[in-house]
Amino acid sequence: MSQLGSNAPSSPSTRRPIVVQKYGGSSVADVERLGRVADRIVATRRAGNDVVAVVSAMGKTTDGLLALAREVALSGEPPRRELDMLVSTGERVAMSLLSIAIQARGVESISFTGSQCGIITNDRHFDARIIEVRPHRIEDELARGRVVIVAGYQGVSYRREITTLGRGGSDTTAVSLAAALSADRCEIYSDVDGVYSADPRVVPDAQHLPEMTFDMLQEMAHAGAKVVNAHAVEWARRAGIAIFARSTFDPISDTPKETVVRANAPNDAFARSVSCDRDVAMLEVRGEDAPNRLLAALEGAALPLLAFDGAAGHARAVVSLISAPDWPATRAVLEHIACVRCDVAFVSVVGPAIASEPAHFMALGRALALADVVPLAQSFGPLRLSIVVDVKVADATQRAIHAAFVNG
Ligand code: ADP
Ligand code: ASP
Ligand code: MG
Repeated sequence: MSQLGSNAPSSPSTRRPIVVQKYGGSSVADVERLGRVADRIVATRRAGNDVVAVVSAMGKTTDGLLALAREVALSGEPPRRELDMLVSTGERVAMSLLSIAIQARGVESISFTGSQCGIITNDRHFDARIIEVRPHRIEDELARGRVVIVAGYQGVSYRREITTLGRGGSDTTAVSLAAALSADRCEIYSDVDGVYSADPRVVPDAQHLPEMTFDMLQEMAHAGAKVVNAHAVEWARRAGIAIFARSTFDPISDTPKETVVRANAPNDAFARSVSCDRDVAMLEVRGEDAPNRLLAALEGAALPLLAFDGAAGHARAVVSLISAPDWPATRAVLEHIACVRCDVAFVSVVGPAIASEPAHFMALGRALALADVVPLAQSFGPLRLSIVVDVKVADATQRAIHAAFVNG
């Protein structure tokens, strides 16, 4: 590895490759892990790259801050603006500590908040969307030879308010910066060495997928596989930025185990996978005009809809709770018109053309019957077949479906 003069500016003709790396909460959960991340960043810089490292809050910091907010809000809704002021501090702690650790290793670095990096969002607090990235300060610092550390998950709205990008949003920070900087690589580091055919913590014989398409990973992420955030995959797809998903805990290597996610992945043609989302609620309404009454209530609650079926006299919906910090208060309102269940999970099998063949529906039914699982609801889209089950059997359901569709 070559040691670069730390302050040598790069002219366009001698431009160093730009590598954007993202390190999630488990990668920087404590001081020892944060040091290992600093070592990896320093090694990447010394190998001759310009490095922008996006970092998440340490460990479960964001969950802890949200719990505090709910406690002080008593039984009311914590205001979303104040939640953004609160949770954005988690990433600021991590970014400054990481920059200190890198400087301690003899490499120049500087940390920036999302707002300092020019990440401009709409004004939807707690679940903002990036509308523009103006990374001038990052470019200036890279030209000075510095490593740039960025607080993930946050931006600033055009009204100059601090916003956050939804849970898992640091992935989106990384991909949007990679696009704005025309980076050569975007590497997402977590506690798994890539994307598997199911969550390897739940399905021990899940298969490692060395490459896959944006479409497949986006569908998996929408169906609950949090290995890479769905909005980040959408950005990568639109900008044509390949994602390299790796483990922080693997030794530093030129040929790491990884999953490459890009537009064309020839070996992905028959790849199937199983995803599970536990952060959901199922709502049921009975009686006259049930579908319309349920839809009207959901419209007011602004909860993303994962599944819906309704006939005269009975309607059922499954909604995502990932961006609903005010769920306890919303639930109290919804319970006036619907029976609300949160002890459920949304389990999906994802694959090309999975819902276009009746045989796949039959295979799903057989797998569930074999595992003694009774689905509470079903839905499908072009790339996915989904069922809602009692959360107690969520793991068994994933294993049964994986055995039938991936290993079968
Ligand atoms: P980070 O905190 O680094 O952003 P996440 O916890 O968001 O990491 O994502 C990594 C986790 O995603 C893994 O620990 C794994 O349990 C989970 N996961 C769910 N589905 C999959 C899958 N199909 N492949 C790999 N990991 C998965
Ligand atoms: N810290 C934020 C979260 O826990 C963002 C992220 O980890 O990407 O959701
Ligand atoms: Mg994540």
